[in-house]
Amino acid sequence: MLKKLIYLLLFSFLLFQCKTEEKSKQISSENYADIINEEFTGDLAFETTSFVEKYWRVVGNTGFNKSIYKIAEKLEKAGYVLEENATEKDVLTYRIEKRPLKKPTWESVDATLKIEGEIEPLLQHSTNRNMIALNSYSTPKEGISAEVIYIEDIKNINKINVKGKIVFAETSPYRIYKSAIVEGKAVGIITYNNPSYLQPEKNTTSIQFRSIPHDSINKPWGIALSYQAKERLKNSLEKGKTTLNVKIETNIYPSEELTIVADIKGTENPKERLVFSAHIQEPGANDNATGVGVALEMASLTAKFINQKQFQPKRTLTFLWGDEIVSTRRYVQEDSIRAKDIKWGISLDMVGEDTEKTGGTFLIEKMPDPSAIWTRGNDKHSEWGGSKMSLEQMKPHYLNDFLINKFKAQGKRANWIVSTNPFEGGSDHVPFLRENIPSVLFWHFTDQFYHTDNDRIDKVSKTTLKNVGTTALISGYILLNADENTAKNIISDLEKSAIERLNEELKQSKIAINNGDSLATQIEIITAWNDWYQKSLSTTKDMVSDENSIKIDIEKSQKTIDSISVKIIEKLKI
Ligand SMILES: [Zn+2]
Repeated sequence: MLKKLIYLLLFSFLLFQCKTEEKSKQISSENYADIINEEFTGDLAFETTSFVEKYWRVVGNTGFNKSIYKIAEKLEKAGYVLEENATEKDVLTYRIEKRPLKKPTWESVDATLKIEGEIEPLLQHSTNRNMIALNSYSTPKEGISAEVIYIEDIKNINKINVKGKIVFAETSPYRIYKSAIVEGKAVGIITYNNPSYLQPEKNTTSIQFRSIPHDSINKPWGIALSYQAKERLKNSLEKGKTTLNVKIETNIYPSEELTIVADIKGTENPKERLVFSAHIQEPGANDNATGVGVALEMASLTAKFINQKQFQPKRTLTFLWGDEIVSTRRYVQEDSIRAKDIKWGISLDMVGEDTEKTGGTFLIEKMPDPSAIWTRGNDKHSEWGGSKMSLEQMKPHYLNDFLINKFKAQGKRANWIVSTNPFEGGSDHVPFLRENIPSVLFWHFTDQFYHTDNDRIDKVSKTTLKNVGTTALISGYILLNADENTAKNIISDLEKSAIERLNEELKQSKIAINNGDSLATQIEIITAWNDWYQKSLSTTKDMVSDENSIKIDIEKSQKTIDSISVKIIEKLKI
């Protein structure tokens, strides 16, 4: 009996010990960076990226759906409960939303392209999985043999008889689909138009994926060439009549659209939320198996912290994986009550590049700020490109500088290059911004393998996955638990960023005036930046329950920035 009692005492002592030890591991704003840097290994992110990148993902197809169920399996393992089985007490939940697809889904199976009379195929699907244009139908099993007609100037295509022939042009297949297939009755289309930022003369085997419209009547097919294949085909045409044998096998079938959503319920303001989104579709490893993987490790690690009672978010953290823009747009539109309380949305898209191989730099694409109107100095658009914005399109908010500061800190810590670009669009941050929800994009560019069949796992770096995931989580936790103190820190950081920006713009304006630009334009630019920061400072109110608690801080910083911009304008007038 006594022995048992001693054991029991010892046991409870140990239990107590354990509890106090757990308490000491509590994570808070003081140690987010240290603990997350230690715990976010990049292993799960990399493993998931490797799984997803094996497939050419299109919404509804095998690879897309396998990716969804892979995410679900890992979420379950981390402790997430399927929503329909969850109780009020469950903090970690997930759901898979299913919707019918209007158009059938598509997947490629196999393809070979041969010049008749030559042994070596021009292209093979096994080495160039982007060769078949998306939505292409299969050819008969034995393939189609037809003469190739090269269209030098696509404006003339209607004047040429292409019936029963294969049309070859250096343009996108979409542009000639109607004239070649629908009107001209060609048997198929072959195109080449890799942009120069892919360095096609160096990366001669890359094919950037292309698509044609889905057309169940004409059942068309299209093939995109690599630089090497394009040169070989042109050589053959120079020698004389060229006949090609084309074998394509694809699957086109009705399917459903899946979206997976994981929620970590906030303890104090569960309706307010931060959303991270990562699109699944597209064929690449970096684009965007990496985003899928990083988001999954972020969700799993957060679950671990919660299960070990180390961390409790006050607001809700949501992860969304689905069809790019489609899923996010629906998420912010279909439920107006939910949408009202989405405080921040962040898109993870191409977040794991081995930059030595791809050439891309990690970029934070900022919410629209005046650098998207007057792009100068250190501000630069990517090769993806952006169009000049207007003052009415500006979205002043603290989120830009807050995230830039956090990522620059990680850059210093991990010896990692972090840069920014003015707003361009084209990913999951767009639907958020359209609904006036603060949102940025984490990505990489210029990637010389972007959208090509050379964007594979060998171009992915686990270190980059770790850097992006770690910093996204550090920033996320700060926002989720933001209070008066957080707001005050952000106000003071914003003031610093504003002063830095205004001084940089003064420098740029002096250069511009020296180059003959008008003073009026320079005053407009300085005024726009001043205005942007005045308004950004006010947005910090969304972190506190009582706006009066930070009113003085905001006004003080606003006055400082205003007086600096007045002085700068005076200096420019001299
Ligand atoms: Zn993408």
